[in-house]
Amino acid sequence: MAASLDSTETSLWSILNNLNCGIVTMLLKDSRHPLMQWANDGFYKLTGSSPTAVMDNSLIGDPSHVIHPDDFPWVYTALTDHIKSKEPLDIVYRVLHKSGSVIWLHVTSSVIGEKDGSPLVINIMEDVTAQIELQHKMQWERERFKAISALSNEILFEYRVDEDTIFHIGGNFEEVLGPHRAVIRNYRNFIREESFVCPEDVATVEAIISDLDDQLKAAPQPSAAADQSSVSCPLDNSWAQQIGKRSAEFRLKMANGEYQWYRALYSSKTDFNGRNVVIGKLLNIHETQLQISRLKERSNTDSLTSLLNRGAAEEAVRLRLKDHSVGWILFLIDIDEFKVINDTYGHLRGDEAIKALAACLRQNCRQEDIVARIGGDEFLIMMQGTFSPELTRQSAYSFWERLQESLTQLGLGFSLTISAGAALTSQHGSVYALLFDSADEALYISKRCGRNCLTFAR
Ligand code: GH3
Ligand code: MG
Repeated sequence: MAASLDSTETSLWSILNNLNCGIVTMLLKDSRHPLMQWANDGFYKLTGSSPTAVMDNSLIGDPSHVIHPDDFPWVYTALTDHIKSKEPLDIVYRVLHKSGSVIWLHVTSSVIGEKDGSPLVINIMEDVTAQIELQHKMQWERERFKAISALSNEILFEYRVDEDTIFHIGGNFEEVLGPHRAVIRNYRNFIREESFVCPEDVATVEAIISDLDDQLKAAPQPSAAADQSSVSCPLDNSWAQQIGKRSAEFRLKMANGEYQWYRALYSSKTDFNGRNVVIGKLLNIHETQLQISRLKERSNTDSLTSLLNRGAAEEAVRLRLKDHSVGWILFLIDIDEFKVINDTYGHLRGDEAIKALAACLRQNCRQEDIVARIGGDEFLIMMQGTFSPELTRQSAYSFWERLQESLTQLGLGFSLTISAGAALTSQHGSVYALLFDSADEALYISKRCGRNCLTFAR
């Protein structure tokens, strides 16, 4: 074909033949049979065919043998429409390589003239098989990820720190957390304004976010060498910057408006665009959390009186003793001659007496006072006093008198008296064991002095 061409044309053909893309001119002889008229070497390389017989009128073949049979009908319609409208055509379709494999081509077509009254079209073809396969692979990965996460009970999330946007997927999150929660923008505002996070836990979540923000800012930026490697393998490099796994617990608003406990397990990384993202999962731990608090309550409570038990009382007293901004008073109280009551009226009536006394102590104390049963017939009360021992004793006496009055109204059918010992932090210090022992000694004195009285530790 090149023999009749002059040297300028020869070099032009040579350039066209050496291009890395396929070039085909096509004649639309009649409405059903497009005919390839000329093709460069790039086209033969793409399709694996060779320029064999030069056919009648310089035509080299029917493209229906090259274009994938599934694509040929719509490609041909697109081509004829393109010729009619003269709009540029830009399509991707499959051709069959001579080896039998399928090649994806990105084709741009333009009408460049007419030959024998038929339109002449030039097609520029680029092999995009690798890109299309990658797209399909990614699409498949996405579908696979969606299917797996839909089957899981866990809600997965991705929080983009700089965009302040969170994405949820899986675990029926819409049913659980409510509709429109797939993507939440302005997350920091949202958790406050929409009460999505329980108001009591907002500070926890905000602390996590600002902690992540700080840590990611402080994390080393990718070096120039790392940038180089990200060119050759961006995905390997993108997940390199990781700040360990963490967990946090907080309550989220459910679709029905109720708050439930969730545990977030997450880790933060820098993606291939240099954006900081947090990837994690939300586990519903509500039932476990309720069970724990029920068990905790049970383990802290005396079953007969529902007052705090000895262990919980000690913990609560120690906590109050850390507050040195006020004075405290500790009472130890013991029922007088309780063995006699048991022996005379029986253990069940004895139990009734313990319960009645517990209720009476609770009624005569304020909500914030500690009231506990610390042994068989022994009780502990801690209340706020003042720094003045005198004033504290005065208020302790008025409490004692109120108590005496109430004890006469228990309605047990027999009289019940109690003895008490009291110690003051303003006098005996804030060390639990010393304060307790001082009150115990004072109680012992009350017993020795004939019972039914209150003694202050010296
Ligand atoms: P004191 O005035 O010296 O305290 O004499 P007391 O008889 O009360 O002696 P103490 O405090 O040492 O004895 C407490 C008694 O309380 C012993 C035990 O039989 C009885 N007790 C302990 N726990 C219970 C209980 O849960 N129910 C009943 N009904 N009795 C109990
Ligand atoms: Mg007793």
